[in-house]
Amino acid sequence: MRRPLVAGNWKMHGTCASVAELVEGLRQLQLSDAVEVAVMPSFVHLAAVEAGLRGSRVEVGAQDCSVEAGQAARTGEVSASQLADMQCRWVLVGHSERRSLLGESDAVVAGKFAAALQGGLVPVLCVGETLQEREAGETLAVVGRQVERVLDEVGVENFARAVIAYEPVWAIGSGLSATAEQAQEVHAAIRAQLASKSQSVAGAMRILYGGSVKPSSAAELFGMPDIDGGLIGGASLNADDFGAICRAAGC
Ligand code: PEP
Repeated sequence: MRRPLVAGNWKMHGTCASVAELVEGLRQLQLSDAVEVAVMPSFVHLAAVEAGLRGSRVEVGAQDCSVEAGQAARTGEVSASQLADMQCRWVLVGHSERRSLLGESDAVVAGKFAAALQGGLVPVLCVGETLQEREAGETLAVVGRQVERVLDEVGVENFARAVIAYEPVWAIGSGLSATAEQAQEVHAAIRAQLASKSQSVAGAMRILYGGSVKPSSAAELFGMPDIDGGLIGGASLNADDFGAICRAAGC
């Protein structure tokens, strides 16, 4: 039985004041133990968010880490071991905004995944196709290639310490969620890909769906057999909406 995870990606949003308000809202939520919950604020707010949420059910993660796991001369970068030292548990790797806007290749994403593991974090590997790729019928090939590159880098056993998030690029921030059936098809394919290397890793792997999830769409998505929670962008900036999405995953 996989315990669902709902993670909020706050991206480059928030001020000290608005983040403090959001943290307060999160502290008020009644969250079931059946679901794991995390938020990923920007690096500059990590310490305040971690302190504000300490003792609550909501854990803290980061949105990215360096390919260098430990200390290095990498101006402007943050390592997985520094994040672990800040009590972060999770880190996004390969979010589509970083792949498309910042040019992160599959090789860099694989390096960050390995560094996250080395630094003691749980990587949340983000994969997904563009609209053009979907329309060309390439969805499963694209997602399969993105997952395979990381499998090649770290081996399937190391996926036991990771999470995968399927996020169709066209659904992120667009208000256009994939249908539950579209998402389920890709999640099942990812699980089958893992199962071809390890049944036990595949069976235990949490595969989150991300892309315009709202309180109104969450229950149907999370009701699919291979969808084990969500990676939530816009709706995670509102504590009530985020709480409603967590409840949809937890019952
Ligand atoms: C995301 O950025 O990971 C995301 C899923 O965003 P949104 O929920 O806003 O589409």
